[in-house]
Amino acid sequence: MKPAAPVADGWARADLEALSAKGLRRVLEPLDSPQGAEVRLGDERLVNFSSNDYLGLAASPAVRAAVLASLERYGVGSGASRLVVGDMVPHQRLEARLARFERAEAVRLFNSGYAANTGIIPALVGPGDAVFSDALNHASLVDGCRLSRARVVVYPHADAAGLARALAETPGRRKLVVTDSVFSMDGDVAPLAELVAACEAHGAALMVDEAHATGVLGARGAGLCEALGLEGRVDLRMGTLSKALGGMGAYVATSRAVADLLVSRARPFVYSTALPPALCAGAECAVDLVEHDPAPRERLWGHIHRFTAGLRALGIPAEARSAIFPVILGEPSRALDAAQRLREAGLLVKAIRPPTVPDGTSRLRFCLSAAHTTGHIDLALEVLRQVGVSRGP
Ligand SMILES: *Cc1c(COP(=O)(O)O)cnc(C)c1O
Repeated sequence: MKPAAPVADGWARADLEALSAKGLRRVLEPLDSPQGAEVRLGDERLVNFSSNDYLGLAASPAVRAAVLASLERYGVGSGASRLVVGDMVPHQRLEARLARFERAEAVRLFNSGYAANTGIIPALVGPGDAVFSDALNHASLVDGCRLSRARVVVYPHADAAGLARALAETPGRRKLVVTDSVFSMDGDVAPLAELVAACEAHGAALMVDEAHATGVLGARGAGLCEALGLEGRVDLRMGTLSKALGGMGAYVATSRAVADLLVSRARPFVYSTALPPALCAGAECAVDLVEHDPAPRERLWGHIHRFTAGLRALGIPAEARSAIFPVILGEPSRALDAAQRLREAGLLVKAIRPPTVPDGTSRLRFCLSAAHTTGHIDLALEVLRQVGVSRGP
């Protein structure tokens, strides 16, 4: 039979072979259950340590009910970009609800965190400007910087003094600094107060990506900016609806003028069909739960402290900063082998390899959730002890 892609098929086969040889080929594996602490994968029942569903809201009965009610009223698709006829009451309601949650003048929704980051940065800076990006920023921020065609200055990871030097040395009409608040693959936290000070000293705008902090950090769960009382000093606070909020989509909390500009200028906002309205209704319910019920967040932090202590007892470096715990193993094959051994013992922990992380830092990445029980946390520690993942190469 002739290949379905007469030319591209040959390219793909060659590239796949090269990826496989380096241990970098990635494959899909469908779950046959909702997200949760325990999931079904083929015939296996596994304890899930790879989901970003930090508060267990992805399968929450209350959120499901809100989605179903909205689905009955508004149907499934939104039919068009919000600028055409896709703007519906649930989108507007969710933006207003998120603005209250974030204590922001305005909020603008995006279809995903990836769309937000690749849309916002080019809407604010361009040729003649400069954008400053932490060396370990998420790929969506990296791509947003590239798409902006501003000069991109990568500063050393979590180094506010390095940022200040770069801001002083780099010419540019406008200067925008972009950083993760919780870094997605290491779980460490940006030195936000120092970054704010550097930006203020140099007249730079600051954009913080709270993807892994929304719902997890801050007394109300609004993220690192809330935890540090810096909401009013950060120009753009981006959060996702897809991680702790359990759904899909993202938003940025900012000023009215910035939110208005994004409507005209952020290409993923202008040129993409609006989120399904029912998901907006679900997110509104999830925000209510996050803001008014601290119990799941407290349970998650209990797990974070328990896991930190347990990892240290095994000789694995760990700090209680977020729900993300990397166990760095080095070469891709070591991370893949370790993930396989954990899986045989009933744990789903995905190996994270380049280019998601730098060469030589392939790792297991544990994500904890309020949906876990302390029994799940202890099981993970026991399995790590048994398989001896903590031992060096
Ligand atoms: C997951 C993630 C994103 C992308 O969000 P999606 O809603 O999944 O597209 C952006 N930034 C960071 C730091 C992330 O971890």
